[in-house]
Amino acid sequence: LIIPEFQEFTDHIEDIYWKCKDNTNGTVASYIPQLKRMSPNYWGVSICTCDGQRYSIGDTAIPFTIQSCSKPLTYGLALDLLGDKVVHKFVGQEPSGRNFNELILDYNKKPHNPMINAGAILICALLKTTVAPEMTLAEKFDFTMNYFERLAGREDIGFNNAVFLSEREAADRNYALGFYMREHKCFPDNSNFKECMDFYFQCCSLESNCDLVSVIGATLANGGICPLTEEKVLKPESVRDVLSLMHSCGMYDYSGQFAFKVGLPAKSGVSGCLLVVIPNVMGICLWSPPLDHLGNSCRGVQFCEELVSRFNFHRFDNL
Ligand code: GLN
Repeated sequence: LIIPEFQEFTDHIEDIYWKCKDNTNGTVASYIPQLKRMSPNYWGVSICTCDGQRYSIGDTAIPFTIQSCSKPLTYGLALDLLGDKVVHKFVGQEPSGRNFNELILDYNKKPHNPMINAGAILICALLKTTVAPEMTLAEKFDFTMNYFERLAGREDIGFNNAVFLSEREAADRNYALGFYMREHKCFPDNSNFKECMDFYFQCCSLESNCDLVSVIGATLANGGICPLTEEKVLKPESVRDVLSLMHSCGMYDYSGQFAFKVGLPAKSGVSGCLLVVIPNVMGICLWSPPLDHLGNSCRGVQFCEELVSRFNFHRFDNL
């Protein structure tokens, strides 16, 4: 067993859970009504180890849209299908040092990385346009949803249509990013701009819960093989690239500090979800809607800092 004294371990997790529950900092995202309505009290923690041990506490079965947590996953799919050479002709590997939706490209006039909106929109364009271009938007959506389900151990992933419609309505900045990238010829040839944008909003609007997202994390922690189904969903070299960029770019403008203090690949989303990967050990999903001023879940970040103070999970522990 990867965690031999699992009960003792989960006692600690429970303890940290209650400690973070008292944290009432932060505000729930309010740019669309469906997120604004989320209770600030929701708080869930789920764990799935690389050998399939599971633990959940709190609001772990309540559905939420995965938002930016979809970005490392669509990036992984693009890498797996197109290879890193093709993907990185279109998007870089550098933290932007700016907001996730900042109207900015790197010195090559490419998006800085796939974990911010500009890069993720381009990854969606690659998946839509370059991978099996004959597929309709509907077929491509099914195909991508099926991939998310395989990451989650063949459990059902949902889609929140109200969030999708609201995202598309409240997307001035994302359209601005799209047009700016189109001006600079960032998109692959033959891209249908509107379909690429819709596909990006759809990926943000996929819906799941803590319990299942922890399995997605475990599939990444396990090099792309889902520990529950033993299905090979991603190649290890794709997962390596995904984790590298989660490590350097996954936490918005807190990424450098998070890499320093916590030292684990992670990706946060505006719904308050936080996907954390401990390579070869476990996937963790933390979910609590109140966000700090940088956009990360307050309870989620506190949980991670507490976790590495008790266990040597920081990637540079054990030197
Ligand atoms: N739907 C959001 C957007 O594109 C996702 C961003 C996020 O989770 N930070 O603005």
